[in-house]
Amino acid sequence: MLARSGISATIVESAEFPRFHIGESMTGALADWFRTMGLIDMLTKCDHTVKRGVHVYGPSGANDFWVPVMRREGDEHVQSHSWHVRRSQLDAGLLEAAVAAGATIQRAKAVGVCRSRRGDIAGVRVRDGLTGERELAADVVVDASGAATVLSTLGVASKKVRGGYDRQISIYAHMRGVRRDEGVQSEATLIFVRSRGHWGWMIPIGDEVTSVGMVVPASYYRSVGLSPKEFFEREINDVNPQLARRLVGAEAIEWARTASNYSYQVRRFTGRNFLCIGDAHRFVDPIFSFGLHLAVFEAKYASEHILRFFNEPSVRERDDPFAEFADVCDRAQGRVESMIDCFWANSLAFAFFVHHKYKRDMIDAFAGRLYGEQLSPGMRAIARAALLAS
Ligand SMILES: Cc1cc2nc3c(=O)[nH]c(=O)nc-3n(C[C@H](O)[C@H](O)[C@H](O)COP(=O)(O)OP(=O)(O)OC[C@H]3O[C@@H](n4cnc5c(N)ncnc54)[C@H](O)[C@@H]3O)c2cc1C
Repeated sequence: MLARSGISATIVESAEFPRFHIGESMTGALADWFRTMGLIDMLTKCDHTVKRGVHVYGPSGANDFWVPVMRREGDEHVQSHSWHVRRSQLDAGLLEAAVAAGATIQRAKAVGVCRSRRGDIAGVRVRDGLTGERELAADVVVDASGAATVLSTLGVASKKVRGGYDRQISIYAHMRGVRRDEGVQSEATLIFVRSRGHWGWMIPIGDEVTSVGMVVPASYYRSVGLSPKEFFEREINDVNPQLARRLVGAEAIEWARTASNYSYQVRRFTGRNFLCIGDAHRFVDPIFSFGLHLAVFEAKYASEHILRFFNEPSVRERDDPFAEFADVCDRAQGRVESMIDCFWANSLAFAFFVHHKYKRDMIDAFAGRLYGEQLSPGMRAIARAALLAS
């Protein structure tokens, strides 16, 4: 997005692409972003699976609810779809698109920052196996390093604090032979709840492969004392009968992996010449698949604010030229957190809002339309219910 706006952009990436990454279910608004950016081929040409909605099953497989992917045409909701993606393919495609737009890639690891004489951030120090360590000068540094939270770790942004869902661990695998449902249900993200903080997912990624995973209390995982693979094999069928019946005869084709302590926040994530986007400053909980959405939309707003930084001297002179960007991000991330808090603390109210009272508002929320200044009545009710239950 920066390169398309005519700004000279350098991406520092330490991993060799394609590489595995978790985060496969995309929101409706994110699919619209790909359409707007002219990148839709990236989704339609690979074997990514269409996503028609999200189906959530309560404990024991009962009390389920369905939220379809719909886009807005003025006041109307129109049937639409998003995608379930293989992140290895998607992320490699995005990197190629950035290069095609004019960005430069440095295959190296960011290990430090450079500072100007007055102490402001003036670039990054990077290291690779060939040339060792070197400096890259930059007017603005964007930290998009995900859970590595590089600028927080380096003491530029504030320290990481624990989020509300950090005492959990996720264990996941790619499987073949998982039983898919019929019709639109075969193209849904399925979520299976066992109890608070203990749940599973099923995401079709391609005709044959399904991403299957579970989130469990970290203390329970540790107390069992098994390897991720052993734990996955022993526990996955106990999450929810609706998940277990779909796994009969299925086999893992990728080793089970884990992600732990994944809920955190970096409260001061912008400053004179820097800003953090996506997981580099906050990660709430993956249950409603907002991670990729937030990373991309924060990147979009970051690009707009960086453009203002270059074009408007009055913005550039501020102590924190990116403070408004931080407010926009906090607002949307806070709304995601309210949804998740309400879902766990008052699941009956949540299901009532989604199913009956605020159906349209909740379709918008699940699609990722979370950035408006006004809260919809549905999201106001969600925030109130979350607060009452806390
Ligand atoms: C169990 C689980 C399930 C999830 N499910 C979903 C889902 O269904 N849908 C969804 O949208 N999201 C999901 N997420 C969240 C999603 O994975 C992340 O929110 C999303 O990938 C964040 O994107 P990002 O660009 O901020 O970071 P990342 O995608 O992690 O990208 C960070 C990049 O920075 C690079 N990097 C890191 N450190 C350095 C360094 N020092 N120097 C150079 N490069 C560096 C890394 O190699 C990486 O390529 C899930 C997360 C978990 C834990």
